[in-house]
This record gives sequence, C-alpha cells and structure tokens, in this order.
Amino acid sequence: MSLKGVDIVREHVGSPGRPAFCYEMPPAPETPVFASGDGVWLTDDRGRRYLDGISGIFVASLGYGSAPIIDAMTTQLRKLAFSPPLHGLHEEPIALAEELVRFAGAPFDCAKLLNGGSEAIEAALRVTRLYFRRRGKPHKTKIISNYNGYHGATYGALSLTGRPDVQRFEPRLPGFVHVWPPDCFACPFGKEYPSCGITCAGAVEQTILAEGSDSVAAVVVEPLIHLLGMVVPPAEYFAEIRAICDRHDVLLIFDEIVTGCGRTGRAFAAQTFAVEPDLLCAGKSLSGGYAPLSALLMSERVSWALRDDDGNAALAPSHTYAGNPVSAVAGRAALALIAREETLARVRDAGALLAAELAAAVGSRGRVRGVGLLYGVKLPAPPHRAAGEMGKAVESRCRERGMIVRGESDWIVVAPAYVTTDAELRQIARTIGAAIDELWAR
Ligand code: PLP
Repeated sequence: MSLKGVDIVREHVGSPGRPAFCYEMPPAPETPVFASGDGVWLTDDRGRRYLDGISGIFVASLGYGSAPIIDAMTTQLRKLAFSPPLHGLHEEPIALAEELVRFAGAPFDCAKLLNGGSEAIEAALRVTRLYFRRRGKPHKTKIISNYNGYHGATYGALSLTGRPDVQRFEPRLPGFVHVWPPDCFACPFGKEYPSCGITCAGAVEQTILAEGSDSVAAVVVEPLIHLLGMVVPPAEYFAEIRAICDRHDVLLIFDEIVTGCGRTGRAFAAQTFAVEPDLLCAGKSLSGGYAPLSALLMSERVSWALRDDDGNAALAPSHTYAGNPVSAVAGRAALALIAREETLARVRDAGALLAAELAAAVGSRGRVRGVGLLYGVKLPAPPHRAAGEMGKAVESRCRERGMIVRGESDWIVVAPAYVTTDAELRQIARTIGAAIDELWAR
C-alpha cells in the first residue's frame, strides 16, 4: 500500500468518512496496516513486528519472501504474464497439473486449475452434475454438507456453508442439505465417544435415505472443520462416510482448501485420515500465498465424465485467469518445496511440538485438537466473562503481544508456516498462554 493509502486508512479509522475501499471487516484503531513480510514475521507501517501464527489465513505456509517462488514468478512475468486461454495452451499449468496429480496420488488422475477456493468448490459441484448426467442419472443433484462448515463466498459455496451468518444472502440455492458435524467437544447428539457409535456418521446415511438416495449426488466435508475450532472427527468417521457414500452411489468431496498441501503433515488430509475422496478441492497453501491459485483434483472414476474419446478432459466455461502461467509457476515452485519429504516430516514434528506446547500453555482452561500444523483451542469463558467472547479476546491480546492467531466465539485456531522454528512455535504457545492468563485474571 502506498503511503497515501495508509494515510487514508488512518484518517478514517474511528472517524466518520467515506473511503473508497470496501473492507473485508471494518478496521479498528488497532488494526495493523501490513507493509512487509519475512519468513514467519510481518511488519506493519509503523515498524511493529508480528509473528504470524496462522500463515496469513492458512495460505503463507512457506513463509514470506520465499526466494525460489519469487524468482520463478519474476522470470515468468518477464517471459509471458498471461497466455490466451481460448487460443492456445501454456506448458506451465499443464506441468503443474501433472505434478499435483502425482503429489496427491491415487485415486486422482486429473486437475482443473482455478484461482481461489470458492471457484474450486463451484467446479466440484459442476463436475458432480456432469458425472451423474453422463451416467444417465441427472436427477442425482442434492448436496449434503455440515452445519457450521465454511466453503466460500460464491453462491454454490455459500449454499454449502451451513451457518446462520450467511442467511443475509438468502435465498440460497435449492438442493443443499445440512447435517450435524462430528464435533466430539460439543456433540450435537449429546453423546460421548466411543459409546456413541459415531451417531454423526449414521445421521449422514439417515439424511441420504430421508432425501431419497436417487436424488443425492455428493457429500462435501472439510476434514477439519475450521469455524468450530478445528473439529477433528473420530478416527473411524471418514471410513464410515466413504462406505455410506459407496452404498448410495454418492460422491465424496473433500474440501481441503485449509487442510491440503502438506498442512496435516501428508500431501492431503485424505492421506492423514486414510480415505479416498472422489473429488478434492485444494487452494490457499497451493501457491504459498504468492498468487491466486486453487485446484479441483478428480479421481479417475469422475474425470471420465469430462474426457473425450482421445482421453482429454475439458471443463467449460471456466474463469479468465484459471491456469494462467504466473500462478502456475508459483504453484510449481511452492509444490516443489511442499512435496519434499523433509518438509512433510518437519510439519509432523513441528506439529507434535506445537500440540504439546499448546496443551501445556492452555492447561485446564481449554482443550486443544488438531493435526500437523493445524490446531484449534476451545476456550470456555472464565466465570467473570461472557460465554463466547474468549476467541476474539485471545486474538486481540495476542496481537497486542505481537502475534497473529484467529479467534471467534469460544475458539482460536493456530496454523503456523511449515518453516516456523521450534523457538517460534514455543513463542506462539507462550503468547497464547499469556493472553489466556490475562483474561482469566480478575
Ligand atoms: N473452503 C474452506 C474450508 C475455506 O476455509 C475457504 C476460505 O477460507 C474456502 C473454501 C473458500 O476459499 P476462497 O476464500 O479462496 O474462495
């Protein structure tokens, strides 16, 4: 942002005015104006440094200022910034798709490149329709997803998102059905694991039957549910959901926009949870935050619906910038770093350290869950504070201490970059512990 832009923000914070910029969230006086980044550290326009405990927003997983990615993009920008998508091909997106499919492993054999998570979700919904049409089952159109999942801001993705805060955009699209999530910290069925017999999975099957299995096309899940404070389902949950989908000829779609690209210590959470979805949406970390980039990965079974007699897959209409060479180069350079076994091993080791440090820092004042470098901490309010205010309060106390985490309701989430050092991981846990100490003190 130019100095002038910063001044405009400062001028209007806390005073009436009509700045031209439409914010994601209206700013507060303490909102930092970020100016630069290096590794896992951000610096604001006043020179204050912040340890980024959430990789931007699950995006900058390789840290800021990654030379291999910047160099590759700079070279590509000089060669060709944009390649006409309807009048020719470019080698970089084609190479990225091959590498991504190899990285994801079975059952995937095809990748459609897009620009953001919501676009990948929309593509998954479109491909689902094409798949059942080609199989002569055009009436299979309904999509099941979790209450309190988040899948994006376009209308299909918003309709999948099962949260009251999207009601202001209603009516949502028809044919979207929500089920209760597998949240063992606040079981919607009032049960305890394991004696519950994973009622949450059984409820998905009951919903398919109640809707009519000949009308249901897909179940869409986030492997860890972000907006409930990183729900980790019971160990056998996904195997059961896979079996239910198979019984009813329903596709299983993994929204791995947060959990994908090494975040869980494997290529995708699908591997971490040992399940093979039919479609998988990746985004965020896919380019490490260096360019807008996402992908829809398709299993062989589903990509068949897009392939012609020569075996070429096509999906149109697409998006003008989908598969552009600069984003593709960013993705290839990021993937070359993510796919190294030492990177994935580091995520697993760093995750184990962070989990232990967080549990020690939080103690009996909260509960930690997560996998790899992706954690949620559920934070009940101390007796002198209102329920549901701890998330935002911890977030702001951490920011005052020079660290960024995300908090809402009764949870915070932590997702440091894969390049975070042990000392920085300890600092993240310590800072959260200090913020909680402050809020518990009367
Ligand atoms: N799916 C999940 C799980 C997400 O967290 C998000 C964004 O936060 C999306 C989809 C939408 O991605 P985007 O904001 O890139 O459109």
